[in-house]
Amino acid sequence: MFSYRHSFHAGNHGDVLKHICQMMLINKLKDKDKGFEYIDTHSGAGIYNLQSQEALKTQEFKQGIDCLTPHAINNAEANQYLELVTAYQKFNQYPGSPEIAKSMVRAQDKLTLMEWHPQEVKNLKHNLNGRNISIHHRDGFEGLVAMTPPALKRGLVLIDPPYELESEYQQVYETICKVYKRWSTGIFAIWYPLISEREVDEGSFSSTNSKLGKSQNLITQLSQQPFKNLLNVELCVTSPSRSGGMYGSGIAIINAPWQFDINIGECLQDIMPLLAQDSGATFNVEWLIQS
Ligand code: SAM
Repeated sequence: MFSYRHSFHAGNHGDVLKHICQMMLINKLKDKDKGFEYIDTHSGAGIYNLQSQEALKTQEFKQGIDCLTPHAINNAEANQYLELVTAYQKFNQYPGSPEIAKSMVRAQDKLTLMEWHPQEVKNLKHNLNGRNISIHHRDGFEGLVAMTPPALKRGLVLIDPPYELESEYQQVYETICKVYKRWSTGIFAIWYPLISEREVDEGSFSSTNSKLGKSQNLITQLSQQPFKNLLNVELCVTSPSRSGGMYGSGIAIINAPWQFDINIGECLQDIMPLLAQDSGATFNVEWLIQS
């Protein structure tokens, strides 16, 4: 159950997409003085050591954040992200979503962080503390339902499960449906992987049973819900390959703020070529529901 550790993946291209979107969404919430709630359902450790055995084993950060930091990028959002991660890179670290949120929130805002892995909870508590931060050792799906609507009515929820278990795709969908009924004005950002499955025998591959099939199914299910708006953002750094692996990722955003689609499109236009592993790299920003 607890096989996933984000330290193997910290700073990869999935994190780059997720954390740029997270920062842009928090910026939008900060346009108003009124406080907001940031909720992380799957927080991880908060800060990662890029010289750890786990990070060095996969070296995923080399095809993520390391592709961006040597470059000057002419985009305000990308630069804000790079400025932040460069400060950690000096210490061979990468900031996870809770640390990024912590670095951006104001006195009137609140952070609620949930994590289920006992060791990651310890790490998170060690790495993050502060007046407005509460850390909960609990299931993020159950916790989110129990904690909504939050006292501060404005807010962002980041839902970022490991997707190690097939059931997690359905849990994301069911949790969102329950929570939206209680808090229809919250912003919900759901990250998901784009994974090409290894083809065992020619013809035996079934896309609906694959993780890619599960991600696509999740997006289809979400797009059939009565949300006011749903924006889908995908970034692929290479073409899907028969040898398997994560070729990209996406983030589905319910209640995406005004002009977020334009802003993220401009940002991805600038960073996609730097992350591209081959000519199959691409990105897509698409309204699945817009009213
Ligand atoms: N959001 C983090 C970031 O961007 O820095 C990374 C999170 S990582 C992808 C997923 C985390 O979810 C892991 O730390 C894992 O231990 C935790 N996890 C797995 N199942 C969980 C559950 N049911 N509730 C809360 N956390 C869970």
